[in-house]
Amino acid sequence: MNALGHAHPKLIEALTEQANKVWHVSNLYQVEGQTALAEKLINLTFADTVFFANSGAEALEASIKMARKYHAVSGHPERYELITFEGAFHGRTLATIAAGGQEKYLEGFGPATPGFVQVPLNDLAAVKAAISENTAGFLIEPIQGEGGICEATKDFMRQLRALADEHGLLLVLDEVQCGVGRTGHLYAYQDMGIEPDIMASAKGIGGGFPLGACLATAEAAKGMTPGTHGSTYGGNPLAVAVGGAVIDEVSKPEFLEHVRRVSGRLSQGLSMLADEYPDVIEAVRGRGLMLGLKCVKPNTELQKAFMDKGLLTVAAGDNVVRLLPPLIISEDEAMDAVARIEAVCAELSTKSTAGKEEVSAS
Ligand SMILES: *Cc1c(COP(=O)(O)O)cnc(C)c1O
Repeated sequence: MNALGHAHPKLIEALTEQANKVWHVSNLYQVEGQTALAEKLINLTFADTVFFANSGAEALEASIKMARKYHAVSGHPERYELITFEGAFHGRTLATIAAGGQEKYLEGFGPATPGFVQVPLNDLAAVKAAISENTAGFLIEPIQGEGGICEATKDFMRQLRALADEHGLLLVLDEVQCGVGRTGHLYAYQDMGIEPDIMASAKGIGGGFPLGACLATAEAAKGMTPGTHGSTYGGNPLAVAVGGAVIDEVSKPEFLEHVRRVSGRLSQGLSMLADEYPDVIEAVRGRGLMLGLKCVKPNTELQKAFMDKGLLTVAAGDNVVRLLPPLIISEDEAMDAVARIEAVCAELSTKSTAGKEEVSAS
């Protein structure tokens, strides 16, 4: 998504410079920008290797295939099943709707692709009970986006890592939504005291240009030898040129510091509204600039009211409205959003008709 807003000068420069060179070459040739972006990601994360795709779902498909292949080449082809979590969203391809397990996305598309079992989030006992001789690993969003800004606790993540190590399983993260600076860290896992084996990244990494990536350790990727997977446009020169510029910007310590500072102001302002209007907003969730308002009234009603005030938000599961502003948002703009949300709260609140004084959101 538009992590750096629209028409960011660095992204325009990267894209137009590349547009004047080559747009596409066969993946029989080495693409300089691909190597450069992969090296940046490898330096900044747990990864030893990166495979480029065009979207989040494709990055997940690569991740799922890699987890299965890892066990197949390790002599355990029966270990093909990933344990996933209720409320998850991993994309709209046949495998990723099965991984997400949500009926509304599976309905009408025939039998669900096998190889996924689902348990409640943050429920370690359920995870342990679900591990079988077919288990390949765990697939989890550190913070569920579509599911309603539901966070996996740090403790739960550490326990999953420990279980994976104990049973020879892979920890696969979906950071398509929560990655690339969204939480105030380049990737959300970096603030959770763990490292994954495989991780899917997309959305923000393209800054609005289609790009996805599957990051992995050399060990987890050992089955993905040349020819086992591929993509015509994945890692396209234009896409990786933009992706390189995005990562250069977002990985700057002062940029991530900015995200955390604005997030602090924004979530404080929103929490005050939740205190003031408990009949409209039940709670504020999330981290960084990935925030959710757990609504008392239907979330679609709030989303529409926000839109009428010129504020774009997105509904999510669990009756939550998500706030996912561009990461370059200023503190003033964040407070402007709080003021608009406050105006909607005042309209929808039953007690506001009693002439309640306004809360100052500063
Ligand atoms: C959006 C999203 C996807 C799918 O990405 P696409 O680019 O739409 O295919 C996968 N996982 C998560 C967590 C997402 O938010």
